[in-house]
Amino acid sequence: MYQSTRGAPAVSLDDALVLGIAPDGGLFLPETIPEFDPGDFAACDRINDVARTLLTPFFAGSSLATELDHIIAETFSFDIPVSRLPVETGYCGLLELYHGPTAAFKDVGAGFLAACLTRLEGNPDNPLTILVATSGDTGGAVAAAFNERPGMRVAVLYPDGRVSERQAHQLTCWGDNVLSLAVNGSFDDCQALVKGAMADEALSAKHRFSSANSINIGRLLPQAIYYAHASLLHWRETGRKPSFIVPTGNLGNAFACYLAREAGLPIGDIVLATNANRLVVDYLDGAEWAPRASIQTLASAMDVGNPSNMERLRSRGGEGDELQARVRAESVSDEQISAEIRRNFADFGLATCPHTATATFVWRQLDAQERRDKDWILVATAHAAKFEQIVEPIIGEPVPIPQELREILSRERRYVDIEPNMGALAAALADGFSN
Ligand SMILES: *Cc1c(COP(=O)(O)O)cnc(C)c1O
Repeated sequence: MYQSTRGAPAVSLDDALVLGIAPDGGLFLPETIPEFDPGDFAACDRINDVARTLLTPFFAGSSLATELDHIIAETFSFDIPVSRLPVETGYCGLLELYHGPTAAFKDVGAGFLAACLTRLEGNPDNPLTILVATSGDTGGAVAAAFNERPGMRVAVLYPDGRVSERQAHQLTCWGDNVLSLAVNGSFDDCQALVKGAMADEALSAKHRFSSANSINIGRLLPQAIYYAHASLLHWRETGRKPSFIVPTGNLGNAFACYLAREAGLPIGDIVLATNANRLVVDYLDGAEWAPRASIQTLASAMDVGNPSNMERLRSRGGEGDELQARVRAESVSDEQISAEIRRNFADFGLATCPHTATATFVWRQLDAQERRDKDWILVATAHAAKFEQIVEPIIGEPVPIPQELREILSRERRYVDIEPNMGALAAALADGFSN
């Protein structure tokens, strides 16, 4: 069963997936975290095998339990390798989470959630409509994941002119069951429209709205799998637990790493790398937890002033000092991000996206002994080609575009412009999904 961080009665996994957020506004967490030993995964070679072993107890009693193999196969349809960086001392690996359809780690969570929700709620006679407001990366991953799934629709709302060219392409190239809405306003306007639509009973009844928010447990669980797989591979090869440095915004990816360690996977330290939005860093330094307005940075997918998954981390990891003993966090400025992109290219021949650069920066700032004595895996959350407008001027050459991204960029764009009001949204939904 899955319990709210705020105490509402526990619900089944199926309900937690469909509800997204608990009725009391809290976030769902498993009542008990299964306990594994690395030996339990001895027979697991592929990431799919690791996923099945790890997820089976999380799916106990779910109507999806018999579908788990198919759900996993649909989610891990691309590689998630760890490459070794040529550092002088110690071990430093790069967990490459950017080989999915939209070249960022959100493809994993979105793919898994789509595979689950389609099986639970997909109904061609009365489709479920996923509403998603996006500032860039999430919308593309959700659209890609739900595209062409029977009985499901997606309406993506994004702030027109405030996402990168390539992001805009990823938000608008789908057609079929995906409606892309270019909102004449800000991300906050998009979010307000989604909230307004969900709260509108007549509109909700007509379209069967649901969300694919990053706080959905269905986006969190699959992210724990790549930490499990990477740590087990390293453990088997070296007998040592790797420590992870995770670029962090809303804390979903980092909490998945924490969950994997709690479940007994061989993971050492967990270090969160934030951009200038440093609330988590200050909190772990002893400040009050007081949500802030977000600051715009080069690592825009991490521009979060009030990270929602902190509620999960505090619920499992405790408050203040107690939590400080379990995770660390460092903030990285835009100047440091730029310098780091340049240095990664000079030292490793590696083009890093601005988010990934926060992790490599934090690694470089560790003291020499810690860099040598522990084994480090840095989490690469997106491909540099997705943020070429930032990366290319810094490294002075074009970033080769991966095949998946090239495929998306070759598609035709289709979208509808709307003003930021409920009437315009309702009309666009009625027209866009009329056939
Ligand atoms: C969403 C995102 C992040 C932040 O991940 P959280 O789970 O929100 O902490 C980091 N990097 C990239 C490229 C992202 O798209």
